[in-house]
Amino acid sequence: MSSKPDCIFCQIVAGAIPCFKLYEDEATLAFMDINPVHPGHALAIVKPHYADLFATPADLLAATTATLQKVATAVQTTLKPPGMNLLQCNGPAAAQSVPHFHMHAIPRHADDGLAMNWDLVPGNHDDIAALAERIRANL
Ligand code: AMP
Ligand code: ZN
Repeated sequence: MSSKPDCIFCQIVAGAIPCFKLYEDEATLAFMDINPVHPGHALAIVKPHYADLFATPADLLAATTATLQKVATAVQTTLKPPGMNLLQCNGPAAAQSVPHFHMHAIPRHADDGLAMNWDLVPGNHDDIAALAERIRANL
């Protein structure tokens, strides 16, 4: 399994650094985030070292998503927050601080001030269609 010695999540997978473990299977690990946005903030990570969404093989992405669903469901059952966001960051501009693929389950509360919501402002359909065509060309 690929591992990066200076990666904090690889060290957690290896057991060299402790975590508040929630769940583990062959391909994934889930644990509590130590800087929780709200109580119950949890992470699901892929065990081998892949930096981000773009580097992670699709089967491991699916496995991480399945683990996140399990854990998010347990958080929901335990804490019953009125909302929950699933979040995944790629690159410094998207606020990715640990370059080892992971997904967040973040309980949410009304007006909690978390700056992750945006107003629904309709886009220009011609612009959207043109961009969709450019993106499809890269699929
Ligand atoms: P991101 O900004 O999407 O890369 O998220 C990385 C997350 O990992 C942050 O929310 C950190 O609080 C969390 N984190 C960093 N180190 C640890 C650790 N040792 N145990 C648990 N969570 C961690
Ligand atoms: Zn790693």
